[in-house]
Amino acid sequence: MKKEITIIGAGLVGSLLSIYLKKRGYDVTIYERRGDMRKATVAAGRSINLALSDRGIKALEEVGIMEEVKKIAIPMHGRYIHNADGSNAYQAYGAEGQFINSVSRGDLNRKLIDLAEANGVQINFNEKCDHIDFKKNEIHFINEVSQHLTTHQSPLTFGSDGSYSAARLTHQLQHNRFQYQQHYIDFGYKELTIPAGANGEYLLDKDALHIWPRGNYMMIALPNMDGSFTCTLFFPFEGEPSFNTLTTKEKVKLFFEKTFTNVASLMPTLEEDFFTNPTSSLVTVKCFPWIRDDKFALIGDAAHAIVPFFGQGMNCGFEDCLVLNSLIDKHMEDLPNGQVNWKLILDEYQALRKPDGDAIAELALNNFVEMRDKVGDPIFLLQKKIEAAFSKKYPEMWTPAYSQVTFSPKIRYSDALKNSIKQQAIMDEVMKIKDIETNWQEEVTEEKILSLLKFNKTSKA
Ligand SMILES: Cc1cc2nc3c(=O)[nH]c(=O)nc-3n(C[C@H](O)[C@H](O)[C@H](O)COP(=O)(O)OP(=O)(O)OC[C@H]3O[C@@H](n4cnc5c(N)ncnc54)[C@H](O)[C@@H]3O)c2cc1C
Repeated sequence: MKKEITIIGAGLVGSLLSIYLKKRGYDVTIYERRGDMRKATVAAGRSINLALSDRGIKALEEVGIMEEVKKIAIPMHGRYIHNADGSNAYQAYGAEGQFINSVSRGDLNRKLIDLAEANGVQINFNEKCDHIDFKKNEIHFINEVSQHLTTHQSPLTFGSDGSYSAARLTHQLQHNRFQYQQHYIDFGYKELTIPAGANGEYLLDKDALHIWPRGNYMMIALPNMDGSFTCTLFFPFEGEPSFNTLTTKEKVKLFFEKTFTNVASLMPTLEEDFFTNPTSSLVTVKCFPWIRDDKFALIGDAAHAIVPFFGQGMNCGFEDCLVLNSLIDKHMEDLPNGQVNWKLILDEYQALRKPDGDAIAELALNNFVEMRDKVGDPIFLLQKKIEAAFSKKYPEMWTPAYSQVTFSPKIRYSDALKNSIKQQAIMDEVMKIKDIETNWQEEVTEEKILSLLKFNKTSKA
């Protein structure tokens, strides 16, 4: 049995993976490029938050940490849409009792690191992976503080060092048929802040994810524990308007007052934040293979970086850990003397997760158009209403695509993608029904969906 496992990167996924493996009895060491984030101070109101949903929750529950995470999670039951004309609309995310959670990335990562150490994982901070020598099973590190070089023997290594993974690069360079695809969208993002009110109160409804859809771009806001909201502006790099054209504080102020009318006045540090906070890019990374014999695997963003529009990157990485753990269970008894068949485990891990990683990458890109444009479109909203009504009456026949991805961990991402394509084809036909705007609650609509479902020879879309 291989007892020693090395993990590169103590981000969200690497830290969780280490807990899974340590609990199975492995000697786990993580090497993390950054210093210990528990010792760094984060300015108030600057916490960057993520939406944690059922797939991630299931993976956290499996290692018994969800109860702790719940303490730092703010449930968001729906989308609160702020239209350009000043009107608002609220769309529940799912059925009664279904919600996603706003969690601070820093708080969650710190909790995972604490728990990893409490379980006995050794974490070496400031150690940047430079490269891996796969022939010698050696990882080379450079200390970010002292510049000291070290080499570490590792029979089994997981690369969880994020979208710009050094582990992946070194794997690629020592592979003669490595597939690699990197795609940047023409939009970047910038984080901005709505601080808490004078008495620490939330200035927008805290139970929702707020969206300001504006056609070609959008802003969203998620609540933080301290009463503030972190806003993210997803905006074109070039064109009019774009990051390129908002070049002065005056232009930014005017633009926000005109475009995000109800919120500009809630952002007292808008102009400073706009020019202080970075403009970051959004990338999708697909690659193959993710593994190397029984010695190496990529996991999390290092294997599948995706754009954030479905709020699934971390959830997907957490699910990777859950799936890997279930495969270790499955193959525990395959070899004599308590040996674990890592070759089989990693082969199956890759075979299961690669199609799911590709699927969520596509779903995430599609959801950008939905969020920035369609959520404000009455026809789209009508379609969602029809779907919700049908799904409520025939839950065994129709789970809305958003719910499949977000609230249905039993449905693989790859199946959710296939189902969503089928469902959209059906809804395209339904929306052609004469006067659908007025008679969508009539029997004809339901019958049409039922007949199209039968025609598709599928009992569940
Ligand atoms: C704007 C934005 C919003 C998002 N919103 C959501 C959301 O709502 N929900 C969701 O599920 N996901 C969301 N995501 C995606 C989520 O952030 C990622 O999927 C998640 O952080 C992946 O975790 P990871 O551990 O794989 O990588 P990371 O979190 O990037 O961690 C990688 C770690 O490896 C370390 N590292 C890097 N290079 C080296 C090296 N050479 N040697 C050693 N260590 C190294 C890094 O310092 C870091 O600690 C969002 C992403 C973005 C950009």
